[in-house]
Amino acid sequence: MATHHTSHSSQETQTSAHDILDVQTTNCCIVGGGPAGVILSLLLARQGISLMLLEAHKDFDRDFRGDTIHPSVMEIMEELGLAERLLQLPHSKMRSISIQTPEASLTLADFSRLKTRYPYITMLPQARFLEFIIAEAQKYPNFQLVLGANVQELIEEDGIVQGVRYRGHGGWHEVRAILTVAADGRHSRLRQLSGFEPIQTSAPMDVLWFRLPRKPQDPAGGMGRIGRGHIVAMLERGDEWQIAYVIPKGGYQQIRAAGMEALRQSIVEVVPDLQDRIEHLHDWSQIAFLSVESSRLKRWYRLGLLLIGDAAHVMSPVGGVGINYAIQDAVVAANVLSKPLQQGSVQLHHLAKVQRQRELPTRVIQAFQSLVQQRIFARVLNSQQQFQPPAFLQLPFLRDLPARLVAFGISPAHVKTNS
Ligand SMILES: Cc1cc2nc3c(=O)[nH]c(=O)nc-3n(C[C@H](O)[C@H](O)[C@H](O)COP(=O)(O)OP(=O)(O)OC[C@H]3O[C@@H](n4cnc5c(N)ncnc54)[C@H](O)[C@@H]3O)c2cc1C
Repeated sequence: MATHHTSHSSQETQTSAHDILDVQTTNCCIVGGGPAGVILSLLLARQGISLMLLEAHKDFDRDFRGDTIHPSVMEIMEELGLAERLLQLPHSKMRSISIQTPEASLTLADFSRLKTRYPYITMLPQARFLEFIIAEAQKYPNFQLVLGANVQELIEEDGIVQGVRYRGHGGWHEVRAILTVAADGRHSRLRQLSGFEPIQTSAPMDVLWFRLPRKPQDPAGGMGRIGRGHIVAMLERGDEWQIAYVIPKGGYQQIRAAGMEALRQSIVEVVPDLQDRIEHLHDWSQIAFLSVESSRLKRWYRLGLLLIGDAAHVMSPVGGVGINYAIQDAVVAANVLSKPLQQGSVQLHHLAKVQRQRELPTRVIQAFQSLVQQRIFARVLNSQQQFQPPAFLQLPFLRDLPARLVAFGISPAHVKTNS
């Protein structure tokens, strides 16, 4: 990796409207330190590839993001020799996803029946997971992390992406790379800059996230409750519940207009156990609004650029699989691209191979999410009738399918690169 401090009259400065403080060159520039970006960083670092990870935030703390590590990701951690140490971090285990209606309890996905050493979803705050992976990557001198690096521009020459420009410490900086990977999430700046248009699938709902205290006697893991016209999902997060209150698409303004007390009542109606702590929710600033989307790009790459994770496909929260799929993209990208990166030449067919291996699993899980959204979420949200579980969920031969799909998908990725 080389760093050039440029004078203001250098060639790099002329290509940009900004004064560039320095230009660094590297083999791979990864934009975004979420699950996809950090795992790809670790995998490429282990291969001795020079790389830079640019993350806009100054740390890895995330509010209201997924804290779920699925069995497929635990198997990847095992392949990297990290599973045991990861499980030493404070976490809890979710062995099934169930929903409870006033009349019955229905298990949507029972992970404990899966054939794996990790038959559960590991609930670990995302920041701890990201820090753990970054600490591993930092053992390799060829890995460089820049926090507070807000990537704003692509460098393109002759139609080929050659790197990025970011605003960071002291002003503008430039990174030149053989390959730039956009792992910058659902609002991907690089996706916009490169002109890729996602194919959107409509979702019938949005989600309000907030936290309430969790008591020692509360059940562990997570749970879902369905009431008349409402769905609440609760995920254990240490001494708090991270709670998702599912609302009809576009309904947030109406809920705000009805007032905080009406919202509190409606939550307690679905989960009466929260009555003794609902007063902790008293201000709209405690609520994070998530516009539920589901989309994917037709094409995930162009010369010099690859998009992975949410940047390539925004996932619905159904099944909480976004992290799982982002990480599997990173594993496939490392499997396919390590050698070309070591050899200093990444061709279109290499990038196409990454998309080919990941597109079908993504389409299948998105189709499954869409089915659940329409057959469960839309029905509950649009009706004041008591919810009747759809028959397909109760067919014995389909019993393990949702757990398998959520935990692994149709084609789980495995680490093929050597350490
Ligand atoms: C409220 C909420 C709850 C969720 N719950 C779950 C869950 O329980 N389970 C689950 O699996 N998934 C969940 N998800 C989805 C999950 O968080 C994403 O699918 C997953 O994080 C995607 O990983 P990623 O690495 O592709 O992108 P992200 O995790 O979004 O990471 C992108 C990173 O890029 C950085 N970045 C963005 N723009 C720039 C830029 N211009 N320059 C530099 N850096 C930039 C961001 O700061 C961020 O760190 C949830 C999402 C939300 C919003």
